[in-house]
Amino acid sequence: MTMQFSVLASGSTGNAFYIGTEKERILVDAGLSGKEMTRLFSEIHVDPSSLSRILVTHEHSDHIKGLGIFARKYNLPIYANEKTWKAMESSIGKIALDQKFLFDMETVQTFGDMDVESFAVSHDAADPMFYTFHHHGKKVALVTDLGYVSERIKKTVEAADALIFEANHDVEMLRMGHYPWSVKRRILGDSGHVSNEDCAFALQDIIDNQTKRIYLAHLSKDNNMKDLARMSVTNSLTEYGFDIGNKLMLHDTDPKVPTPLYQVI
Ligand SMILES: [Zn+2]
Ligand SMILES: [Zn+2]
Repeated sequence: MTMQFSVLASGSTGNAFYIGTEKERILVDAGLSGKEMTRLFSEIHVDPSSLSRILVTHEHSDHIKGLGIFARKYNLPIYANEKTWKAMESSIGKIALDQKFLFDMETVQTFGDMDVESFAVSHDAADPMFYTFHHHGKKVALVTDLGYVSERIKKTVEAADALIFEANHDVEMLRMGHYPWSVKRRILGDSGHVSNEDCAFALQDIIDNQTKRIYLAHLSKDNNMKDLARMSVTNSLTEYGFDIGNKLMLHDTDPKVPTPLYQVI
């Protein structure tokens, strides 16, 4: 079997990502309530008790809200780096020692028939990191919650078959919107979030011949809209010379509705 994945939920209100093979079933982040997490899995017809483990990206509540309760309910091991463990420990309740595991920054761990690589992002959390997933020559990259896309990140995620990539806000909507200036500055800064424009700008260096799908993720509910994000990224990528809609597809993600399970072929 190939890898298959679903963006279970994405946005500032909660994030969760599922990826599985024949032997390995991974959840990345559990940013919705335990009950909502169970519902998301039932919608993609994956039994949460069949999961192998949970990987954590960083301690922001939109990534760990349901982590403790979900991990206890299904007795799942949790993986995070040391600083993230420290930063989230007080908000996830008691986790048994035999459920606690380390996943160091910039390392590769082999789980069953999948290799998972962690990489650092610039974001205002203790030690935030995201992941690429490798199985039988196929590669999927998950990249959200970052202030800017460094050359190093581009190298790490390039040539992926599928990318889940942040398109957080429309810069004009954010500027004109009602957020206090300090919050606007945080979002626009180097440790905040990637805009639609910056998303497209980074993608032009990342996309290659084998890239078939891009999921626009972590959209701000106040400063972006699905249509706007898709249009903006499509227009920019078209200007850069990419043919969107044939071999390369852009997909939406949703804060509450999982994307259909996609087989990476
Ligand atoms: Zn987030
Ligand atoms: Zn965050």
